[in-house]
Amino acid sequence: MSVEKVEVLVVGAGQAGIAMSEHLSRQDIPHLVLERARIAEKWRSGRWDSLVANGPAWHDRFPGRDFEGDQEEFVGKEAVADYFEAYAEQISAPIRCGVEVREVRRLDGRPGFRVETSEGVIEAQSVVAATGPFQRPVFPKVVPDSAGIVQMHSADYRNPAQLPEGAVLVVGAGASGAQIAEELLEAGRRVFIAIGPHDRPPRRYRGRDNVWWLGVLNKWDLEGPSSNKHVTFAVSGAHGGQTVDFRRLAAQGATLVGKAKGFADGVLAIEPGLAENLASGDENYLSVLDEADAWVARNGADLPEEPEARIVLPDPECVTNPVLELDLAKEGITSIVWATGYGLDFGWLNVDAFDETGKPQHQRGVSSEPGVYFLGLPWLSRRGSSFIWGVWHDARFVADHIAIQRSYRAYRAPSEADASGTSAETA
Ligand SMILES: Cc1cc2nc3c(=O)[nH]c(=O)nc-3n(C[C@H](O)[C@H](O)[C@H](O)COP(=O)(O)OP(=O)(O)OC[C@H]3O[C@@H](n4cnc5c(N)ncnc54)[C@H](O)[C@@H]3O)c2cc1C
Repeated sequence: MSVEKVEVLVVGAGQAGIAMSEHLSRQDIPHLVLERARIAEKWRSGRWDSLVANGPAWHDRFPGRDFEGDQEEFVGKEAVADYFEAYAEQISAPIRCGVEVREVRRLDGRPGFRVETSEGVIEAQSVVAATGPFQRPVFPKVVPDSAGIVQMHSADYRNPAQLPEGAVLVVGAGASGAQIAEELLEAGRRVFIAIGPHDRPPRRYRGRDNVWWLGVLNKWDLEGPSSNKHVTFAVSGAHGGQTVDFRRLAAQGATLVGKAKGFADGVLAIEPGLAENLASGDENYLSVLDEADAWVARNGADLPEEPEARIVLPDPECVTNPVLELDLAKEGITSIVWATGYGLDFGWLNVDAFDETGKPQHQRGVSSEPGVYFLGLPWLSRRGSSFIWGVWHDARFVADHIAIQRSYRAYRAPSEADASGTSAETA
């Protein structure tokens, strides 16, 4: 049986796979993109209904196409997916949907990889894993199934009506947790939010959006997180874009609690440290204002002062007198949404591209297994790597690397050319 052969196989047709296809086409490198579901599937079915992009349309896009409409708008998730479908069409990306890659392994005694898919075997010289930064929802099994509480990860949350009547505990103070908690509050639910350490940059300051400040302050280009401690990033485009402020949510009726740590007899044990976690969020917020002010002064920029941005709301009662034990039944909590992040799952990639802990081993996406590349991972080359605009630039670097390797493979020494009667130019 003949085996289909491709030069570069890209796995996944989210924004990363589409960016990869664009840059490979620009270098005239033949390739195929396999997608197990639909183009930009995660934006269609892996996010809650009301999600909008975290950055305004002028920023959260690829250079080759604008979103339609108001460029300051935070585009809804379906429109983001439509955008990527249209983009794939615009660049004539060779995408095959509905095909899952099940295993990739190096070929024996010859270059390239054997790729087993749901529709047969393909051989590829190079493989780009563009299967997403957020592949496998993870949450700690603190509350057992036997507790009789509906529990779901934020990846499975869609809207308030999906949850049983009663109060809801949202665990996680990142972009997802903050937005889901606010939506539930607005739907009239009683809401508890478990808050760990977080950064919460101002949405807008002195007339400019956070994404712009991250740009001019060179923060999109940071090569790694500022600390080894895991800190979530609470930012939201909901309601036209508002700074995430947990004290404001408390003023709207939410109860803030610290991180959930254990469960016994219907009672959730809560770690102390809520006030410290809020304070570290404030510190981050105020540090961005300081850096922005310094940038304005240094550059003599004409951006209006905004002293009111420095007003921090007073601590609510739930912070000054923190809850350390949450009796779920007593509080009427019937469901928990775990907005606790994601892990990676490269079970299908059976090559030497991982360290002893299973973490992808790479430099700017070029893995330790020659011919295998990663794209779209958090901090692949910098902070922007897992975001829409950042992945496009990383894809350019990876395509360049593939093109350089291709030219080495095509090289023939003059003596070889003489022997075969062809020159390196025509080989
Ligand atoms: C709630 C949320 C909100 C976000 N909002 C923003 C935002 O506003 N702006 C922004 O820039 N970023 C945002 N991000 C981050 C990031 O942009 C998205 O996660 C985005 O979906 C990542 O794109 P990707 O192409 O890297 O991965 P994905 O979109 O996850 O695409 C990977 C694709 O690979 C496919 N796939 C996986 N395994 C296989 C396989 N074995 N075979 C074939 N196909 C496979 C999947 O079906 C999927 O379509 C958000 C993330 C989350 C979780």
